[in-house]
Amino acid sequence: MLNPCELEIALFCHGLRVAGSTSLEGSRSISRTRAGLGSGLELTIPGDRAHKPAIWVNVPVVEPFAARSPFVLYGGPGRYTIVDERDNTWYPVDLPRAPGWYSAKTSAGTPMNRIGVLQGTYLGIYINPVCAFWNYKPALNCRFCTTGCNVGEAESPLKAIPDVVETCRAAREESGITFVHLNGGFQGSRGIESAEPYIRAIKEDVGLLVGVQLTPEAQLTRYDRLLKLGVDHISICLEFFDPEWFARICPGKARTLGQTLFFRALEYCAQRMPRGSVSGEIIAGVEPIESTIAAIDYITSLGAFPTVCIFRPTVGSDMADWPPPAEADMRRVMAHVYRACRRHWIPIGAAPNIEVSLVVNPDDTSYLAERSLHTAAYEVYRRSVKFLAAPLFRRRMRPRLRAAAPVGRQTPNEVPCGPGPLGVA
Ligand code: SF4
Repeated sequence: MLNPCELEIALFCHGLRVAGSTSLEGSRSISRTRAGLGSGLELTIPGDRAHKPAIWVNVPVVEPFAARSPFVLYGGPGRYTIVDERDNTWYPVDLPRAPGWYSAKTSAGTPMNRIGVLQGTYLGIYINPVCAFWNYKPALNCRFCTTGCNVGEAESPLKAIPDVVETCRAAREESGITFVHLNGGFQGSRGIESAEPYIRAIKEDVGLLVGVQLTPEAQLTRYDRLLKLGVDHISICLEFFDPEWFARICPGKARTLGQTLFFRALEYCAQRMPRGSVSGEIIAGVEPIESTIAAIDYITSLGAFPTVCIFRPTVGSDMADWPPPAEADMRRVMAHVYRACRRHWIPIGAAPNIEVSLVVNPDDTSYLAERSLHTAAYEVYRRSVKFLAAPLFRRRMRPRLRAAAPVGRQTPNEVPCGPGPLGVA
């Protein structure tokens, strides 16, 4: 029998078949949004730990490899089971219900599910126009990504600030979210600047923890502006550690920004934010495993935490025909995530109610830890940090007093921007 984290990894690697008799009625629909990695079925695997009641996973179901999966979903609302046909093991799971606000509209008439989408227990919003790497001829998009196919199709091409605020508020009130993650691809030297009005409005009008994920900008001091606005989390998408794989799979990032800038940005933010607030995102299952492990060691050595995505050959991406990673390799990588976080005392899992379905959360990997005094001490440390940090997070989730006049129906494209060419400043 697989433990919850082992099952999560196996589902990411093999995908899931849905039996013909299975009813998905009322569950969250399959959303093609953001970088397209959220292309699967959201489900929860019950956990057996008080601080981790469930593991959230966005399981591939539409990719061709999922049709060959040994995992099959049976049941209907309130009673679902996954059967592993390799050994006929049954696992109870649950399919989270689609929230009411998914079918609601903002006061401007925009469907809220075209503004943001739940990815586990948090809200993800792609805030910018389509990533500029898609506009080059030939396109310089990252080869695993489908943002260029989604923005304007599955979601609104531009997100007006009041629409974002109303969607965040509905998700907070109905779904109990604590965290909104804003991402926006490559926007030259205007990415950080264009995120600022969204952050300000969410902090003032809704009061949520806010995370930002944008390609780095050469002027690293721009991150100070985000910190001033009260951003709680910054993630830097390294994607790959090996320079050759980075250049091959992420040609836009390699040619316009260069891999070194991603490292400098991660180091800059990690030095300025509290331990465990910054993450380095990495994709596992494409470059050699040793490079992924080296990336995890590098990220944790900075006091940041690794966000490891298990590569998904998403339909519509340039890598749609690539094979998914091997389960054994991904178990090895995720066990290393725990060991590296433990070695550097990264307080993983401290923030309230942030379960990310697209990746194996670092604290999910505690299921893979060997029993030792070091592990026991680290687990006590993690729980203590979570307990002591709770009042701080509560304070940071209070809406702030509005500092300026109410926002109008503007998008950052209409907000005057400072000088600077579109491109790296
Ligand atoms: S930077 Fe790469 S991964 Fe991010 S949106 Fe652009 S093409 Fe996609």
